[in-house]
Amino acid sequence: MENGKVTDSICLIDAKVFGIPNFTSAYLILGEELALIESGPAKSASLIIEGIRGFGFDPAEVSYIIVTHVHLDHGGGAGTLLRKMPRAKVVVHEKGVKHMLDPSKLVNSSKRVFGNRIDEWYGEVLPVDEDRVVPVKDGDIVDLGKGQRLRMIDSPGHATHHICIYSEKDRGLFTGDAVGVYIPDSRVLIPTTPPPEFDPDVNIETIRGFAGLDLDLLLFSHFGPVDRVSNILGTSIDWLRRWEETVSRMVGGDISLETITEKFRQDTREALGSGEGMEPLHRWVMDYHIPMCASGYLNYFNRKASQACRDS
Ligand SMILES: [Zn+2]
Repeated sequence: MENGKVTDSICLIDAKVFGIPNFTSAYLILGEELALIESGPAKSASLIIEGIRGFGFDPAEVSYIIVTHVHLDHGGGAGTLLRKMPRAKVVVHEKGVKHMLDPSKLVNSSKRVFGNRIDEWYGEVLPVDEDRVVPVKDGDIVDLGKGQRLRMIDSPGHATHHICIYSEKDRGLFTGDAVGVYIPDSRVLIPTTPPPEFDPDVNIETIRGFAGLDLDLLLFSHFGPVDRVSNILGTSIDWLRRWEETVSRMVGGDISLETITEKFRQDTREALGSGEGMEPLHRWVMDYHIPMCASGYLNYFNRKASQACRDS
């Protein structure tokens, strides 16, 4: 999918994270004012800038960079983009603000999962000045004019500070990582369940809540628009439940990061099929994404166990 218009007022820009196309997207939203949803990582900043120009706009006109959460592939580039967007403010969940002001803890936490390669993957994460941050919570509205009102929807589960963004005008929900990763080439959805905050039950509640919105479109940050709304929301819940049951059955027996990863890989391989024609993405999913998902579930079950110890 090339950069292009999803609707009259929503433009998709491919951030080509890891050099892989059709994997990570940002969206430019057109009203009287402009908003960018997701900065992408710092390393993608020039592609985002080029993308905005490609739609005929000057990046200096952008008023808001709205990030669904602060993970580096979603919000890591905000500080870099601000240098080209002198009037823009960064809109972020109030619980994520501290990571925008000082990204060091977040970067270190990413390094615990992926090692030093994240510098090469995502680029240097620049801090954002406090006077350029707009903290938001559930129900807050960013009004771009021309009927484009964007409503912030608290959506914990993947991370505690995750927001989704609902466009009343387009009846579309920018899902960030709350619903999973949609792979358009194979039309398959897979979960994204990273440590240290992932909670399957909370994530499922979040997804159930989306059924109450008037929705025609899900707009994934990984990757692109999908109109099979209830089918995809149902699939996402099924995956999270199934993996929770899988890991729960291992508790007290043969449970390790390796055994969980192997089981998750089997399920994912089945869902994706051969992955023919999408080798780099397929490889990334198997080599990095699935171990991260396994680690997120293991971390969740360990948290639960230590909570139970504290309670008893
Ligand atoms: Zn994330």
